[in-house]
Amino acid sequence: MKSATTTATTIRPKASPSSWESTNSKEKAPSLTLKDTKVANDEATPPTKVTTSGKTGGFYDQQTLWEQELHRYHPSFWTLVRVISLIGFPYLMSAIGSFFWPLVVEFAEANGLKVARVAQAAIALVGGLAFVAHNAFFAAIYYFNIPSFDQYRVDDKPWHWDMLGVSGWREMLRNTILQILFNFIVVNAPVMYLISRRWGGLPFRMDATSIPSGGEIFWQLLFCTVIEDFCFHHSHQLLHTKQLYWIHKVHHRYHAPISIAAVYAHPLETVFGNIFPFVSGPFLLQYRMHGWAFCIWSIFRLAASLENHSGYEFPWSMFQAIPFKAPTEYHDFHHNRNQGTYSGVLRFWDCVYGTNKHYFEWVRAGRPDTFKTQKFKEQKQK
Ligand SMILES: [Zn+2]
Ligand SMILES: [Zn+2]
Repeated sequence: MKSATTTATTIRPKASPSSWESTNSKEKAPSLTLKDTKVANDEATPPTKVTTSGKTGGFYDQQTLWEQELHRYHPSFWTLVRVISLIGFPYLMSAIGSFFWPLVVEFAEANGLKVARVAQAAIALVGGLAFVAHNAFFAAIYYFNIPSFDQYRVDDKPWHWDMLGVSGWREMLRNTILQILFNFIVVNAPVMYLISRRWGGLPFRMDATSIPSGGEIFWQLLFCTVIEDFCFHHSHQLLHTKQLYWIHKVHHRYHAPISIAAVYAHPLETVFGNIFPFVSGPFLLQYRMHGWAFCIWSIFRLAASLENHSGYEFPWSMFQAIPFKAPTEYHDFHHNRNQGTYSGVLRFWDCVYGTNKHYFEWVRAGRPDTFKTQKFKEQKQK
């Protein structure tokens, strides 16, 4: 990251409209300097609240919702790219599986190992590599601060390394990585083992003769997304109650989230807020699902979450072609303001409960300054 402590490098405001721009005119944010941003402290600056007109109830502000949904499919080159990517993804993954999975089974048989065991290791390995590769892509964007990517930022607020300085950021990054390693090794692996013990392993087909077709992967991704979204929304909303927020507070240390923050959470949240929603769809399907399809679901869901936390929204992203998909700015708003917008991939349940009314209010108001930007402006005026 080009940070942070001594020189007054300019943080560029958004260079061009985001993909949601057409529904509302966005105020051009002022340039800030890193020198200005140093005054902010992650813990010391509470998120500001958006004041709404007091409307409550379900399906708040349908007009904005439908405007955004229509805009998602407005005719353009990138719309075509993301729609083709979304439809083509399961078919591409099916083709890769037809090549890769027989090698896994052959390897197990040639070495006298249980196919299910080797298959589980292969799923963990492929999923882990995809996670690292996706994070490496975002890390390169953050580190090199590539100007051509600025146009895809959902906000112009400073990153945590800008706010905390080199040593503060190193400390936060170290804590994040240690917590994530702990979650993956000490929490995820044993929990997955425990919940699949009654089947003697993951309850999916692991053979090389029934590799899922593109169509099968497609409907299973859709099914798992809908089930996961229901579980994620409600567990997330519970984590925001007074009694349980001490668990969720860890994840909310990131006011300006980056991709890796997606899995930075308290171990209890990792189990009840992440793992259970994630496995609920596949464990309902059981042997209707192939191990390779489960692997694709892992990659798909993790990639969506990394993107939601990345601070960027790319016009070519296949996730943005999913109907009612929450845009990146939606979860960014959640981290910024800590006000509603509990849904993960879709935003159906937020609409039902009216828990995204503050977000829509903010959109209709032309997306006024973020809380940090506002704070710096106030400090400069004094
Ligand atoms: Zn939250
Ligand atoms: Zn989050």
